[in-house]
Amino acid sequence: MLPFLLALAPAIVTATVETDPVPDRGDAADDMCIWIDARDPSRSTIIGTNKRGGLAVYDLAGRQIQYLKGETNNVDVRYGFPLGGRSVDIVAATTHHGRTIEVFAVDRETRTLAHAGEIVAGIDLYGTCMYHDQESARYYVFVTSKDGAFEQWELEALDGGKVGGKRVRALSFGGQAEGCVADDALGVVYVSEESKGIWRVPGSPGSSEKPTLVDRAGDGHLVPDVEGLALYCNADGTGFLIASSQGNDTFAVYRREGRNDYVTSFAIGAGTIDGAEETDGIDVSGVNLGPSFERGLFVAQNGRNDRGNQSFLLVPWDAIAAKLGPLQVAGRD
Ligand code: CA
Ligand code: CA
Ligand code: CA
Ligand code: CA
Ligand code: CA
Repeated sequence: MLPFLLALAPAIVTATVETDPVPDRGDAADDMCIWIDARDPSRSTIIGTNKRGGLAVYDLAGRQIQYLKGETNNVDVRYGFPLGGRSVDIVAATTHHGRTIEVFAVDRETRTLAHAGEIVAGIDLYGTCMYHDQESARYYVFVTSKDGAFEQWELEALDGGKVGGKRVRALSFGGQAEGCVADDALGVVYVSEESKGIWRVPGSPGSSEKPTLVDRAGDGHLVPDVEGLALYCNADGTGFLIASSQGNDTFAVYRREGRNDYVTSFAIGAGTIDGAEETDGIDVSGVNLGPSFERGLFVAQNGRNDRGNQSFLLVPWDAIAAKLGPLQVAGRD
């Protein structure tokens, strides 16, 4: 009996860094993305949303270095967008209410965000993720909604250094969808339909291929709501797709490649820093981010913080890799 129970129990890892709490009480922090400073990865940041009040930038020690007002819900980043003769790292965030996708440019010197445009989508927004198509070199923003609508917007450089967009695809899932993540190298986007499971959709707007269900909620690995999604990418095309299984406070890990076979589940338990529960957004990177996160970083929204308002928890990838055993492959994002 005991070995059977042990096999079912998720592996436990602990956070080594926690960000400053968001300024608003209640269910406020939601999603985040890791911005990587290519010149000095130890200067990378966590860009986290506060759906009740704004968008925060934290350093890797968890200290808030910028706070922009505005009710943002989900956020993502892509690198090297050609804008006004420069190469700019672009952040897109969905507003918690309404249809506006806010676009920001990362100032690589100060690590802060500057507003760079807004795109009015055709649906009431919920989640978002970005996609840089490696074949066409085009940049896209995907947006999800509470009624299952899903749109793909192509980013365009406008006069005056601003960013706009045009809608290039609209799809629909059956129910409320929020979390999503795109695999730039493999050309697919994954979407969480919260009560149903994880969908896999071709990233190309011209694709007529139907979405396929990677894993169904309720079959053991995913307990609704299915929330944030993140991708750990090795250079050889392998890696891991990770999903927040909010209903049982765990993170389900799938193979990035092939048919996205399920690998294992883990949880962030209490250590020096409290554990993660009711997690919404997550993100992960395999890049060496300096001494604290040499093999990469996993970040999870902290649904109940032992000290104040909600926050974001940072876990060294090492701790998670150790639970993946022989599947772990050396590489980088
Ligand atoms: Ca929440
Ligand atoms: Ca995100
Ligand atoms: Ca949700
Ligand atoms: Ca907690
Ligand atoms: Ca805490």
